Amino acid sequence: MYCPFCRNPDSRVIDSRTSDDGLSIRRRRQCPKCGGRFTTMETASLTVIKRSGVAEPFSRDKVISGVRKACQGRPVTDVDLAVLAERVEEAIRQTGQSQIDANEIGLAILGPLRDLDEVAYLRFASVYQAFDSLEDFESAIVELRAAHAESEPRDVTE
Ligand SMILES: [Zn+2]
Repeated sequence: MYCPFCRNPDSRVIDSRTSDDGLSIRRRRQCPKCGGRFTTMETASLTVIKRSGVAEPFSRDKVISGVRKACQGRPVTDVDLAVLAERVEEAIRQTGQSQIDANEIGLAILGPLRDLDEVAYLRFASVYQAFDSLEDFESAIVELRAAHAESEPRDVTE
């Protein structure tokens, strides 16, 4: 790993700690040549197997571009999308697998997207789960309503 300041190809690890979620290791490094300090992150590689059988490294950008269309015209910011992609990656890494099907990424997107924007969620789910009838939408909406009822108990003060 080159020093980002002087491009010296050598660096010394001065501190090393596991992240809170246990999914990565953070190393503090110092360049012996210029004394510059920098941090590197080490995570296990995560490979996505596409439907075509082609393997490629997991990419948060691809998650974002995958849901961006569903979020068109919705009050969803780039920061929201970045956070969503992070949650998706975390969820996948928590499974402990180093290889996953592209299909599972779609599945991992559904939960965080539902929390973010329900209309975007319905759009994404309709494509991803290949809704082909009004009934499919209806049952997805019934599920959303049920989730609301659980998370927002009725006000009983009156
Ligand atoms: Zn240096």
